Parts: sequence; structure tokens; C-alpha cells
Amino acid sequence: KVALECRHISLSYGATPVLRDVNLKIEPGEFFALLGPSGSGKSTLLRLIAGFNRHQAGELLVDSQDISTVPPHARNIGMVFQNYALWPHMTVWDNVAFGLVERRESRDAIRRKVGEALELVGLSQYAQRRPAQLSGGQQQRVALARTVVIEPKLLLLDEPLSNLDKQLRVQMREELKNLQRKLGLTTIFVTHDQEEAMTTADRMAVLDGGVLQQVGSAAGLYDYP
Ligand code: ADP
Ligand code: ADP
Repeated sequence: KVALECRHISLSYGATPVLRDVNLKIEPGEFFALLGPSGSGKSTLLRLIAGFNRHQAGELLVDSQDISTVPPHARNIGMVFQNYALWPHMTVWDNVAFGLVERRESRDAIRRKVGEALELVGLSQYAQRRPAQLSGGQQQRVALARTVVIEPKLLLLDEPLSNLDKQLRVQMREELKNLQRKLGLTTIFVTHDQEEAMTTADRMAVLDGGVLQQVGSAAGLYDYP
């Protein structure tokens, strides 16, 4: 379990400021929700933490170490996207195994870890299917398994439930919460759905126009539109 801290982080695309002096501290094992309207900079902040965007000012600290110059693959941060981003030509098993194969883990370790990850998300029987043969919820479970199998220090969830229908979203947010608790992973969950944030997160904040507006407990943010 690691702590994450953003100190005075600013980022512009060209002359357009997108994140303005963002200060945020997330505790080890905390489930933190980041709310905000479309275009407010939520994805940009997540991508910055993952190492795909570079900030022009400020510090990004994991357990008090500045990781600003650490390349994405060396950060060991897991990210799950709205569109799942699975490899369509690969089986579920191979999708989940991919990161471990890249790391050249042993065949035994890969078999064990992939088996465990699929069991964790309830997809053991689907190992030989391809993503197109699964429902949206199942595809998102594969994406989760593929991310947690590498044992990331931090879990970043970028609107992972937005492509699912309402009923499934409610079910999946429970699953997400349970998975996060079980693994004890420090997690940032980006969503534009306040109810989703309230029902999953320990704390949350609102990003608006690149400015982090409020940070507090779920109950303290009831006035968010
Ligand atoms: P959110 O995730 O809250 O919807 P984003 O972080 O995707 O917001 O985008 C924040 C702002 O930055 C938007 O105005 C968007 O148009 C702009 N933006 C995002 N990515 C880029 C990019 N690669 N180049 C230029 N502008 C971008
Ligand atoms: P390789 O021969 O490529 O080293 P394995 O012998 O571990 O890989 O597995 C071959 C294939 O069998 C894997 O790609 C996977 O699709 C499938 N497989 C292996 N173990 C399991 C399992 N416990 N459950 C479901 N499928 C499995």
C-alpha cells in the first residue's frame, strides 16, 4: 500500500492550462473518487500519474519519492479504461497473461497468477474466449484482471463503468469496491457519476476547469450538481 501526493501540479497543452496548481494527498489503501464534468482534466491527471502526460510544474510523490521522471513501465501503476482496451485477437487468458509474459515471469508463476486473477473476477470458465464473445461487464472484468495481475502499487480507474447499462453499473461498482478492499490497493476512481463515487469511495474531490475544488468525505460533497 502506497501513499500518493500531488504538490502544486500544473499542466498545459500548448498555451491552454488544463491542470492548475493541483494539490492532493491520497492515503495508503484509500479508495479515492475524482468527480468532475467532461473536459475538466480528470483523464489528464490520471495519465499524468501513470506517466503518459508530463506536468510542467509541481511534484508527484509516491511514498514521498518524486516519480516525475520515472518512465511509465517502471512505475508499476495499473490503469483501467472506459473502453476496456483488450486485444481482440487474444483469448481472455492471453490478455491477462500479457503483462507477466512481457516481464518474463516463469511459466509456473504466470499460470498461477493468471488463474488467480481470473478467479478473483469470476471468469475462470471464460479463459479460452475472445473479448468479442463476452458481455461488456465481462470484458471490463477481464480488463480489471489484466491490471491487478501485475500487482500494481496504485490502481487508476478511468470511468471504467461508463459503457455499461445502469443495472450492471450498480453491480460492478460493488465488485470494484470489494476487489479494492480485498487487495488493499490505493485507488483513484474517475467518474462523472456522483452516486457512483458516494457508494464506493472513502473520500472524493471535484475537479472543475483544472482546479481541484473540494476534497472531503463522501457525505461532505452533497452539494455537487
Ligand atoms: P476529462 O477527463 O475531465 O473529460 P480531459 O483530461 O480529457 O478531461 O481533458 C481536459 C482538457 O484538456 C479538455 O479541454 C481537452 O480538450 C484537453 N485535452 C485533452 N487531451 C489533450 C491533448 N492531447 N492535446 C490538447 N488538449 C487536450
Ligand atoms: P504455454 O504452453 O504457452 O507456456 P501453458 O502451457 O501455460 O502455456 O498454457 C497453454 C494455454 O492453455 C494458455 O495460453 C491458456 O490459454 C491455457 N491455460 C493454461 N492454464 C489454464 C487454466 N488453469 N485455465 C484455463 N486455461 C488455461
